[in-house]
Amino acid sequence: MRIDVKNSVLAENQKSADALREMFAKNDILVLNIMSSPGAGKTSLLVKTIQELSKEYRIGVIEGDLATTLDADRIRAVGAQTVQLNTGGGCHLDARMVEKANEHLDMDVLDILFIENVGNLVCPSGYDLGQNHKIVVLSVPEGNDKIPKYPHMFRRTELVLLNKIDLLPYLDFNTEQAAQDLSLLNPSSAILPLSAKTGEGFDAWIRWIKEKRDAICRP
Ligand code: MG
Ligand code: ZN
Repeated sequence: MRIDVKNSVLAENQKSADALREMFAKNDILVLNIMSSPGAGKTSLLVKTIQELSKEYRIGVIEGDLATTLDADRIRAVGAQTVQLNTGGGCHLDARMVEKANEHLDMDVLDILFIENVGNLVCPSGYDLGQNHKIVVLSVPEGNDKIPKYPHMFRRTELVLLNKIDLLPYLDFNTEQAAQDLSLLNPSSAILPLSAKTGEGFDAWIRWIKEKRDAICRP
């Protein structure tokens, strides 16, 4: 007998994700699931993003990590409601973990919720967290091979943030090639170059978030 564990796990996850999506919609919360490999700069990007948005929006962050509260501490320091989820070695977040994290967030006073997934380009892409949009952060030092090597991740994203573009002069990363590889895999996805360090490219990213938030809040 063969038991299809993967499919039943994903079916369970989908039920929770559907319920989450309904609850987020009811509360007019824009939810962004941010994925990347470890070290692509998700947390630095979020810190800067929250600084740009926090005058206009009330922001929450769910921080997924294998261990420690280091990232949550950095996010909390810029004034967002923050919940740390330690997966205890688990390599992705699932919808049940987000349900648990939500118990510690005040949904009535949130406009935007960022979910920082565990740094991993493989399985996080398979788990719906009830988000409105999936975003992948790819950073210049990771090189050009990541898009073709991790097709599942890049096929399921709506936006790729190409981070650390301040390093482009020192490395061989080819931005045009990355855009071409992405459009082959996923023609509807956009690539947005930016630097969480210098702030270059952030205007377009902040505009993108505001447009998505407006879209869900239209009466
Ligand atoms: Mg992080
Ligand atoms: Zn995993």
